[in-house]
Amino acid sequence: MRTKSTVNEQSKLQYTQLLTEAKQKNALVPPSDPRVQRLRAIASRIVPYAARWNPAAADWKWEVNLLNSDQVNAFCMPGGRIAFFSGILTKLNLTDDEVAMVMGHEISHALREHARKRMVESSATSAVGKLLGAGVSAYFGIDPRLTDTVAGIGAQMISLKFSRGEETEADIVGLDLAARAGFDPRAGITLWQKMGAAGSRQPLEILSTHPGGESRINEMNRNMPLVLPVYARTKGTTVDKLPPYQSMPLPPKA
Ligand SMILES: [Zn+2]
Repeated sequence: MRTKSTVNEQSKLQYTQLLTEAKQKNALVPPSDPRVQRLRAIASRIVPYAARWNPAAADWKWEVNLLNSDQVNAFCMPGGRIAFFSGILTKLNLTDDEVAMVMGHEISHALREHARKRMVESSATSAVGKLLGAGVSAYFGIDPRLTDTVAGIGAQMISLKFSRGEETEADIVGLDLAARAGFDPRAGITLWQKMGAAGSRQPLEILSTHPGGESRINEMNRNMPLVLPVYARTKGTTVDKLPPYQSMPLPPKA
C-alpha cells in the first residue's frame, strides 16, 4: 500500500527522470521558449486557487514543463508536476483560456488525488508502464529497450484512466479554478468541441483516456451558471455584459 508521502516522493523522482531523459533527447523545450513562458504564466494564475480544493497544495512545489512531441496530451502528477506535450498546443491551436481549461482539468485530478488512488489500487503499474513504454519512447524517438523506467513513467501518467465520476469532478473543479484565475470557462466548451473535431480527423491520444465529449460538454454547460459569474467578476463585469466567447479555429491540417 502506497501512502500519500511515498506517492509524492515517487512522482518527484519520476518527473525528474522524465525531464532528464527528455533533455538528453532534445525533447525538453527550454524555459526561455515563449511557449514555456506562456504555460508558466497561465499556471501562475491558476495555482493560487488550488488550495481551495486541497489544503496540502499550498505546500506543493509546482513545476510546468513542455515536451516536444506530436502527442495531443498533458498531465499533472501528484505534488503539482505538470507536463504539456507540444502537440496539444499546435494541433488544437489553443487560446490561453483553453490552455487554462486543460491545465485546470489536469491539476484537478492531482488535487482530488485521483492518480494516487489509482496508483494505490494498481500494484501492477510498473508492468503496465513497461508494456506501454515502447509507445512513449517512440514519441521521444528513443530506443525502448534503454528507457523502460523513464518511458514507463510518461506512459503511466498519460494512460491513467479515470472513472466517469472523476472526469466530471476534474472538469468542474477545473472550470472553477480557471474562472477564479480570470479565464473564460466557456473555453471548456470550445476546447472539447475542437478535441472532437480534431479527433474525427485523426486519433487523439487524450481522447482514449478522456472520452465522452458530448456528455462532458453537457455537464460543463450545466455548471456554467455557477462559474460564469465568478469569471465575470474577475473582469469587473456581469454575465449579461460578457461578449460571446471567441476561440481560434483548428489549423487547416493538423
Ligand atoms: Zn481527466
